[in-house]
Amino acid sequence: MAERDRKPLIAGNWKMHNTLGESVELINALKKGLRPNEKAEVLVAPVFTALNAAALAAKGSAILVAAQDCCWEEKGAFTGAVSPVQIKDAGATHVIIGHSERRTIFCETDEIVNKKVKAALKYGLVPVLCVGESLAEREANKTYNVLQTQLEGGLKGFTAQELAALVIAYEPVWAIGTGKTATPEQAQDAHVFIRRQLARMCGADFAAKIRLLYGGSVKADNVDYLMAQPDLDGALVGGASLKADGFLRIVQFEEVLAKH
Ligand code: PEP
Repeated sequence: MAERDRKPLIAGNWKMHNTLGESVELINALKKGLRPNEKAEVLVAPVFTALNAAALAAKGSAILVAAQDCCWEEKGAFTGAVSPVQIKDAGATHVIIGHSERRTIFCETDEIVNKKVKAALKYGLVPVLCVGESLAEREANKTYNVLQTQLEGGLKGFTAQELAALVIAYEPVWAIGTGKTATPEQAQDAHVFIRRQLARMCGADFAAKIRLLYGGSVKADNVDYLMAQPDLDGALVGGASLKADGFLRIVQFEEVLAKH
């Protein structure tokens, strides 16, 4: 199979799981199982309290570390929040922004998401911007409208150059933590739409370079067919990233031909 133009990225979102010790143990197990020169980049997102320990444990390996969220300010009176500067200081290189759990449970709007993307870029973190529709929105044929609104809102005011490092994760809310994975064709369709929006907003060259991850019940047994779709450049994995064996199998996905 032809080599991919965009290097795949497999990211594990550990959500509010794992103590310090468990986080380091999981990193060590991943380190043991990773082969030299994996075809995919590997990223894990532990809780804030384990960020530094995870980054130290990952040092010297191919594993990159992300925060699951960040504040839009550098410092100040924002009780409970963690700034991009502090995240970078802890050893992380990436930050997940606008995850659907942040949007729904913590009421994050596209405006807040936009401020967070801006702060992440300002302080040198790679933003992994999450977008995706709910089941009700999909059933009402609003998927494209939702994606367009979230992309335009989250990426408002940036040039293509500023967004060069951006990663986008398409995560249909109905597929997150439900075991209901989007079909490879549904995922590909949404990714093509997202790439077209990016081309409209920032130009075709930009859109062709940006990595689009799919997230929503990705597992060892469905990753190969998802990754066979031409516009899927990786995965954002929740539940299945908590066990080293399963996550390693996702990282080491096999190149198969798309079903259609
Ligand atoms: C996620 O949390 O981003 C996610 C996709 O979760 P899961 O893989 O468990 O559906």
